[in-house]
Amino acid sequence: MKKALKTSAEGRKCRFPHCTQILSIYNHKPYCRVHWDQIPQKQKTIISAAKV
Ligand SMILES: [Zn+2]
Repeated sequence: MKKALKTSAEGRKCRFPHCTQILSIYNHKPYCRVHWDQIPQKQKTIISAAKV
């Protein structure tokens, strides 16, 4: 049986300006953990809806 782990593309960088943090393939968000905590909830909702 194959394990169907849901992962994102490798080598993605955080979208926060000037942030060079490489995102984990297991992190499906467009921001690193630090900046994800900083962006407004309203923006998170938009990002989640768009399924980047
Ligand atoms: Zn970042």
